[in-house]
Amino acid sequence: MKKQNHCSLMEQLNDFSRRDFMKFCGLVAASMGLPLSMAPRIAEAAMDAKRRPPVIWLHGQECTGCTESLLRATHPSFEHLILDLISLDYHETLNAGSGYQAEAALHQSMKENAGKYILVIEGSVPLKEGGKYCMIAGRPFVDIVKETAEKAAAVVAIGSCASWGGVQSSPPNPTGATGVPEVLKGTTVVSIPGCPPNSYNFLSTVLYFLTFGKLPALDDKARPKFAYGRLIHENCERRPHFDAGRFAEKFGDEGHRQGYCLYKLGCKGPITHANCPSILFYAGAGTWPVGTGHPCFGCTEQAVGFKVPLHTQAEVAEVTPAAAHVPIEMEKGKGMSAGAAGVLGAVAGVAIGAGAVIAKKLGESDEGE
Ligand code: SF4
Repeated sequence: MKKQNHCSLMEQLNDFSRRDFMKFCGLVAASMGLPLSMAPRIAEAAMDAKRRPPVIWLHGQECTGCTESLLRATHPSFEHLILDLISLDYHETLNAGSGYQAEAALHQSMKENAGKYILVIEGSVPLKEGGKYCMIAGRPFVDIVKETAEKAAAVVAIGSCASWGGVQSSPPNPTGATGVPEVLKGTTVVSIPGCPPNSYNFLSTVLYFLTFGKLPALDDKARPKFAYGRLIHENCERRPHFDAGRFAEKFGDEGHRQGYCLYKLGCKGPITHANCPSILFYAGAGTWPVGTGHPCFGCTEQAVGFKVPLHTQAEVAEVTPAAAHVPIEMEKGKGMSAGAAGVLGAVAGVAIGAGAVIAKKLGESDEGE
């Protein structure tokens, strides 16, 4: 699927002004921990058609939620940004053609762009019985992954399924589903887990690669540190309630209606690394699971998402201080924005003794049940 880029990126973003675009690049820089002065450089890289990398996007065992989430992002014209930032040569959901025509596009792109394309893989890879549980064009998906990765400049596993196997890999894992890093041992596979992952994290990773010609710093699970460096619990807008010992005990009770902490309903925020509360999901305040009143289920952590039951309370081994302390008496909806909290968090430092205080408060509340 070759895009015809007859006009510039800015011309195509007709509902998106240059000023908005620069603001967006500033936000991307801030979310990656880069100085704001980097925004013009990021914008320049994004608008340079010559730097636009060819991308081959494969689908394995998955629900297509990662792609759906990416395409439904509303701000700022995200689908245009992502589709114009990259040259999407092959994507099984978006391909206009199918069958032999689509396969020909894949092989043509691999040949023409050998050593230059970014390979994005969505979905897990089944290994049992020779990989027969996911066949594409008559071939096991695992073979296609290995062959396509051989000549890729970079490999990205998008979503929890591609990162480690996701829901398909839950016991008893009948198909032997696993993640791309397991299949491509010895290759650096940038993992952007989440169910679905936040599209801004994917976009920021691509923009970083375009701007600096290298991958962003990764953690020990090959996740970009800028996105997965902090616990959700550190930047959650309900954190002041956790610190104050105010918890929803049941869905729909007074505490739940008041926006209290969801820890007792099974929130995995204290053991899950992701930037959901800082960057949200596209539509502004509250657009993330905890913001809508549902506990985080830990979808970005292999040991948590799809492993620990949804409503089981997390074992809080290490209590990190909140990125910013908001007065607990502050009215709901009038607190510091999550973004501001995140920025302040960089300079907040460690609150000595916070862990002990929080543990005490949890205990006090439990005793009162
Ligand atoms: Fe937020 Fe969950 Fe932490 Fe409560 S336990 S503060 S809801 S992340």
